[in-house]
Amino acid sequence: MKKTKLLALSFQKVEEFVALLGWKPYRAKQILSWIYERHAACFEEMTDLSKADRLLLDARAELRHLEVITRLRSVDGTEKFLFGLEDGRQIESVLIPDEERLTLCISSQAGCTLDCTFCLTAQEGLKRNLKSDEIINQVLTIQGLLPVGKRVTNIVLMGMGEPLANLPQVTEAIIKMISPIGLGLSPRRVTISTAGLVPQILALWQGPVPVNLSISLNATTNALRDQIMPKVNRLYPLEKLMSACRSFPLPARRRITFEYVLFSGINDSLEDAGRLVQLTKGIRCKINLIPYNPYPGSPYRRTPDDQMILFQNFLLKARLITTIRKSRGGDILAACGQLSSLSHDQSCASTN
Ligand code: SAH
Repeated sequence: MKKTKLLALSFQKVEEFVALLGWKPYRAKQILSWIYERHAACFEEMTDLSKADRLLLDARAELRHLEVITRLRSVDGTEKFLFGLEDGRQIESVLIPDEERLTLCISSQAGCTLDCTFCLTAQEGLKRNLKSDEIINQVLTIQGLLPVGKRVTNIVLMGMGEPLANLPQVTEAIIKMISPIGLGLSPRRVTISTAGLVPQILALWQGPVPVNLSISLNATTNALRDQIMPKVNRLYPLEKLMSACRSFPLPARRRITFEYVLFSGINDSLEDAGRLVQLTKGIRCKINLIPYNPYPGSPYRRTPDDQMILFQNFLLKARLITTIRKSRGGDILAACGQLSSLSHDQSCASTN
């Protein structure tokens, strides 16, 4: 008989599974608490179940963390994990400690649906969508490797892939992140980043997971966005994207984040900043400027710091909340846009 993958089941289905074994419903809670609160990686660890029960579970069900192929640590404390999936595909997650926060950046696809010209993951093409258990298992596996008492506080779906191109599986995983019987994170501590798939943005806002949304804008004209983010911008050009953002009544105290990667001489002039102010008028938002992280062979250059500050000051003067993202983990190719199973050999070499 094929074993049931517990991480792939909804909580409701775990209850049904437990009932099928002839057990009382409280057993489902017990097992879920081992998985999501105590990060058990196998049934053997569930010591408040009898030996016989653990053996029965082992015969009928499967519980496994992801295979860690490499774990690299940056000088700034950022860690990159390369995971091997059952079919041999590889994905990456990045753990970013920052004062009180411990943010985990996870992947939603092996490779990516989109073809943004500045992003290393795009060069792989789409291998496949991740299953919801592979998405949540990135969190469980890493949490299980952390010292006792250290907890992931924030999750961002900004790793490999376009999360909104895999919305059903991403939604299932997020339900497990924010449910009190799952990881119990506040939805405010979970962020989806999208290149701008408009129908899925609207579906997300109307759906069951009220998480934060970041939109990767990166350009203020269709001419440039068509060049650097061809696939998504041809489907949903700027006017469609911005009018969707403008039309939706955001919940109280929420803002959309617009991410804007700065490329030297391409999108970092004060005229660009002026257009950004116009584009975002009437949208409750903030702007997150991202220094470009080059990778071997990348076609763009990073905007110098002083220009980045001029750009930021222009936006601040126009009363836009604007932050500059600290770039982390660049020495191990763990920074934004540097994730790829192809980069793996290179990044190992750079830390040896
Ligand atoms: N597909 C999603 C999530 C992955 S990319 C999205 O597009 O939002 C996460 C963020 O990294 C995006 O804002 C993207 O614009 C940015 N990014 C991609 N490549 C980058 C690079 N080389 N340097 C800096 N940021 C990059």
